[in-house]
Amino acid sequence: MMRYIGVALLYLLASPIYAVLGVQRLVKLWRVRQTLHAGIIICVHCGVTNQLDVLATCGKCKTTEYGNRLRCSACGDTAKGFDCDACGVTIRVL
Ligand SMILES: [Zn+2]
Ligand SMILES: [Zn+2]
Repeated sequence: MMRYIGVALLYLLASPIYAVLGVQRLVKLWRVRQTLHAGIIICVHCGVTNQLDVLATCGKCKTTEYGNRLRCSACGDTAKGFDCDACGVTIRVL
């Protein structure tokens, strides 16, 4: 019985940490959604506005298509980022 109480207490103590982590995750997901919805990403290095919907080549299956450059409709691969059109710096999105 004491063991169960101990475990329950541990979860209770840890729950605020899980809550904070959960909120952080939600905020991040929300930000990503907003970014993808806006369709543009401003490069933090040179300040150029990069369109997300452009002619892009998939890094995995090499399919070139118009559409969201972060997601390939041919193989379903999702990229975590892309290189800035102007300065070539890697912009991490996801
Ligand atoms: Zn692909
Ligand atoms: Zn740039």
